[in-house]
Amino acid sequence: MDEMKVLIADQINEKGINELKDVAKVNVQTDITNEELIKVIGDFDAIVVRSRTKVTREVIEAAGKLKIVARAGVGVDNVDVDAATERGIMVVNAPESTSITVAEHTMGIILSLARKISIADRSVKNGKWEKSKFMGTELAGKTLGIVGMGRIGSQVATRCKAFAMEIMVNDPYITEDAASKLGATVVDKETLLKNADVITIHVPLTPETRHSISKKEFDIMKENTFIVNCARGGIIKEDDLYDALSEGKIGGAGLDVFEKEPPKDSPLLNLDNMVVTPHIGASTREAQRDAAIIVAKEIKRVFKSESPKNVINMPVLDPESFGIIKPYFQLMEKLGKFLIQTAQGNIREIDITYCGELAEFPKQDILTRMVLQEVLNPILTEPVNLVNAKAVAENRGIIVIEGKRHDAKGHDSLIRIKMKSEGNEMSVEGVLAKEPQIVMINDYKVDVETHGTMLIATYEDIPGIIGAIGTKLGEHNVNIAKMQVGRQKPGGEAVMVLKVDQQVPKGVLGELKKLDHVYDAVTVNL
Ligand code: NAD
Repeated sequence: MDEMKVLIADQINEKGINELKDVAKVNVQTDITNEELIKVIGDFDAIVVRSRTKVTREVIEAAGKLKIVARAGVGVDNVDVDAATERGIMVVNAPESTSITVAEHTMGIILSLARKISIADRSVKNGKWEKSKFMGTELAGKTLGIVGMGRIGSQVATRCKAFAMEIMVNDPYITEDAASKLGATVVDKETLLKNADVITIHVPLTPETRHSISKKEFDIMKENTFIVNCARGGIIKEDDLYDALSEGKIGGAGLDVFEKEPPKDSPLLNLDNMVVTPHIGASTREAQRDAAIIVAKEIKRVFKSESPKNVINMPVLDPESFGIIKPYFQLMEKLGKFLIQTAQGNIREIDITYCGELAEFPKQDILTRMVLQEVLNPILTEPVNLVNAKAVAENRGIIVIEGKRHDAKGHDSLIRIKMKSEGNEMSVEGVLAKEPQIVMINDYKVDVETHGTMLIATYEDIPGIIGAIGTKLGEHNVNIAKMQVGRQKPGGEAVMVLKVDQQVPKGVLGELKKLDHVYDAVTVNL
């Protein structure tokens, strides 16, 4: 295999670079311009960026063999993720690299508010000694309200627990069990707003969270409440925060993030009960080092064909889910291969139903992608992989339907796929026995192993047809290793699945189709 090549386009910690040197040729060009990048990107298998380099659609389109774009930080604002997805290029980042750093910054702001550190600092530096003006508040015994208990919120909980605070959490996506492990109680938003002495926000900025802390919420809070936002500007409505602070409705606020950054003319900057920092929550050497190491490890995983952990544009499974779903990969691959070889013309619709135990499993998306990859790869020039499979299907107007059913017809799990193409409609059902097995073709019960070459013929179920097909194959030296027939009722349409030792030449297929009472004949190589 050719040696992998990685381009480091922005300055990252040396430890990340060293990690990559084990598996690839590393080229560091941290002052490369976008024009130069477009010229050279075709040589690289991976690129690492921080914020300076913009991985635009033009860059992606010039990238011949690029497999992965790695952003050594949180977020991927400088990467055109849609363009990468369309080309089957993975985009990874290092979202967990800053969690501790941001949590510690949050602690700093909380302490600064409680003990008036930043304003006292300013006062002393201005030559004053105003001891009585800076009466503070103890955190011990007070209630902390965490809005959003993800990576950062959890770290804040642990730290505030050490300060002997009571912890309340509002996060609709966290279980009571997970919260109680961190010593926190899950409450609704109103209870948190009503009871917390310190509120800290750690949710993403979404249409739901934008301005989710505004006048209505400030009106519910206690008089001395401190509120901190080290998440994203826009979650707190700043005009309403200004009113709440200047009217003395709440005790103080700390912001690392603002609706507009920098918040130059914001009246908030004139308030004494306000602590502000210039979006530096994630800025520590340790966070930058960790981000570099995390993305280097992701690139190594991809080069070793292992599953990366932080892919933005592909579903990622935790090890337990991966263990459950992995045995089905081969079955999906076989079903996809079967279907594309039996299709006639353009694919219109692929309808996948997960039945039985698999239906209870919440993450079948990767299996759907696997089928799409198998179905689309033989018919398209662009490579289709797990990253771009859904995007490619959508761009080609193929309708993809995913469903679940409890009943798996006596099997633990069963997968049914119906595919409509321009000229026909095929359905196939598969299960995992010792090996992947096809148990139904077009509503006919069969029991077919999923390897080797098979001939599938549909015909009218009257005496003599099976013999006629066998004779025709014999005339052309095609040996039948195994035969199965399926029918719904005597005399109706039937299906014959023949395992054959040789390929069936196209001409022979044509002759079979011309036989009386034979409707269709196709071969499938699995
Ligand atoms: P995360 O995804 O791990 O956690 C977010 C949590 O918010 C999840 O538990 C989720 O269930 C919860 N949530 C989502 N919508 C909610 C809602 N409407 N109400 C209550 N909870 C809700 O994210 P994280 O890594 O902990 O990051 C948290 C925030 O910090 C993000 O906004 C991120 O952008 C920001 N951040 C800021 C800096 C900085 O420099 N200040 C650095 C890194 C991250």
